[in-house]
Amino acid sequence: MLGNLSEKFEGVMRKLSGQATISEGNVRESMDEVREALLEADVHYEVAEAFCETVLTEALGESVLKSVEPGQQMIKIVHDELVKLLGGEEAMDDEGRPIEREPIMYVQPGPTIIMMSGLQGSGKTTTCGKLAGYMKKRGKNVMLAACDLQRPAAVTQLEVLANQVEQEVEGSGKVMFHGEPEKCAEYGQAVGVAVQVANRALESAKLQGADVLILDTAGRLHVNDELMGELRQVSNAVNPHQIYLVIDAMTGQDAVNSAKAFHAQLELDGVVLTKFDSDTRGGAALTVKKIVGEPIKFIGVGEKLDALEEFHASRIASRILGMGDVVSLVEKAQEQVSEEEALALQEKMEKGKLTMDDFLKQLQAIRKMGSMKSLLGMLPGIGNQLKDLNLDDKQIDRTQAIIQSMTVAERKDVDLLDNSRRRRISKGSGSDAKDVSQLVKGFEMVSQLSKQMSGAGMMSKVKSMAG
Ligand code: GDP
Repeated sequence: MLGNLSEKFEGVMRKLSGQATISEGNVRESMDEVREALLEADVHYEVAEAFCETVLTEALGESVLKSVEPGQQMIKIVHDELVKLLGGEEAMDDEGRPIEREPIMYVQPGPTIIMMSGLQGSGKTTTCGKLAGYMKKRGKNVMLAACDLQRPAAVTQLEVLANQVEQEVEGSGKVMFHGEPEKCAEYGQAVGVAVQVANRALESAKLQGADVLILDTAGRLHVNDELMGELRQVSNAVNPHQIYLVIDAMTGQDAVNSAKAFHAQLELDGVVLTKFDSDTRGGAALTVKKIVGEPIKFIGVGEKLDALEEFHASRIASRILGMGDVVSLVEKAQEQVSEEEALALQEKMEKGKLTMDDFLKQLQAIRKMGSMKSLLGMLPGIGNQLKDLNLDDKQIDRTQAIIQSMTVAERKDVDLLDNSRRRRISKGSGSDAKDVSQLVKGFEMVSQLSKQMSGAGMMSKVKSMAG
């Protein structure tokens, strides 16, 4: 994610921050490097140029050079400009922290109608499912409607996703589906078939008490009049409260160009940038707000249903500058473990009563948070050093398999694990006997350590640090 760009920025910033004094020449030189990094990341030429000009003017005008910590001040200016580029200025609270708004405005009474648009393959249908999951977790009843009638397979894809979200995503909301696959046969002969389906989906959403109706619409490989005509018809018929454009971050400037075309025809309210997990150079993220004028609301960070993150300009700016994104990391952790669970676990650790089942639960929570590499990448200063490291998520899976091959009694009391039991477990989990021994040893160390830490009052210290 943003590998090269972040690496370059981090390098420039490190050079600046290490200097007690900086000259105008230093600033200009760094801006040349920044400009080069932006262009390499496929940021639009004019955008990169304007960015560097603004930073230069601010840096040279604000007596940065004479200040006590010129490097830090420069970094702040670059950070703030990046934030603006990524999504405009965010409102600040009294302590100067950005106030983060809910990305979705819900209307009362519902349903809030959200229309998705985008080119074929951009990740539109997948994003519909992810958004439904995001809302279900927040207690909303959501209806997904398949208004892409070009192919029956598209209708089925959305139906499968809707069922999957309903079954797999925990949350008090409900996910429903409206689709009329038989209408696909009429598509192409009858004008306005998509409109009919959208209208009926809206009726059904109202009847079934949906808080949100998400319309998946047709895409094409390229922007054309037919597609835009259809999208406008659907939009005029149901008057969506929000229209989102889904774009593929990997396609860089192409994505920005198609975004321009969509923007000219539809009243867009926001952008979802998908495939941000892949080797995107970042150009689309840094250009889209400036060119399209609409903010990025979410980023897609994987193929799985929970791989959707709210987009916060200041957090991404920090990631680009190698400052990490601890806020997102903590949020991810909080999503997986409730406060009561965390407290119960802490108590057990303090008493030295940790069991293999607790260990397993922690591993599962970590696994659900995303890949190890993406998690560690959110820690300050670590992201770019991980680039070439081959972190093996399968190791966690293997450890899980070993614990799952233990009996209930063994999980409660590892002292039971004699050699014959260890052999059985290694066979059952398809792992080496030495992996089992290593796990038991590691577990005993963690238990011992947590007991010692609590004895020394460390747990409360760690807790107060975290709080
Ligand atoms: P649509 O034609 O716009 O509806 O696109 P789909 O939703 O069918 O997605 C196209 C492909 O992109 C599928 O293989 C998805 O799994 C994949 N995809 C969608 N979003 C993401 C993402 O955020 N990250 C990654 N890595 N793949 C994604």
